[in-house]
Amino acid sequence: MVQIKNSEQLAKMRKAGRITGEAILVAREHIKVGVSTKEIDTAIRNYIEKCGAKPSFLGYGGFPGSACISINNEVIHGIPSAKRFLEEGDIVKIDVGAYIGGFHGDSANTFGVGKISEEAEKLIAVTRESFFRGVKMATGGKRIGDIGSAICGYAEDLGYGVVRKFVGHGIGRELHEDPEVPNFGTAGRGARLYPGMTIAIEPMINAGTRDVKILDDGWTVITADGSLAAHYEHTVAITDGEPILLTYVE
Ligand code: MG
Ligand code: MG
Repeated sequence: MVQIKNSEQLAKMRKAGRITGEAILVAREHIKVGVSTKEIDTAIRNYIEKCGAKPSFLGYGGFPGSACISINNEVIHGIPSAKRFLEEGDIVKIDVGAYIGGFHGDSANTFGVGKISEEAEKLIAVTRESFFRGVKMATGGKRIGDIGSAICGYAEDLGYGVVRKFVGHGIGRELHEDPEVPNFGTAGRGARLYPGMTIAIEPMINAGTRDVKILDDGWTVITADGSLAAHYEHTVAITDGEPILLTYVE
């Protein structure tokens, strides 16, 4: 069931969202050649806990990290490791959630390590732009399909693969709530958006086909064709007008 948040609950989500967004910035500062993904995870965890919050992902479904850290052809759900080191030219996806005051935030971004290829730069830019095309549709009275269709229409026209096996979601007291927010769909179709809904919009875009598979670790999702993937996510509050990006921090 879709949970509509009142203004008091939205204020709590703003707080969880701000800490989540700040944790992404902390991660960005730690992204350098030679750093292990575990070190980045630890920095994220320390920051979230310093804020009095809890990392939403730690222990979620048994996940061992505070953040999902996925490199290059890894799309999402990469497990932080003390043995995995960032290399020049890598692209790194950081996906983080923070829980405080009974509510969650959820946000992801993709960063380059040192100098990255033009192909990687473009993939990251297209993924980010696809999010902003989608979020423009996230207003009261529109439908879930308006968001997905805007994201998919933009990225697929440019020849990218839009992951369909994993989707965005409602968020609030639970990290994953109704409704599902696919990055594809038909304009004018799907659940209606109401002010007070809070959703995570999170395009996962592949340089190759949209197909993915899961590694034997049971978590890491990789592109089926080995191509690069990017991810961009914010927790968004629906209003009658402009949506509020709860995890957007500058
Ligand atoms: Mg996320
Ligand atoms: Mg999410």
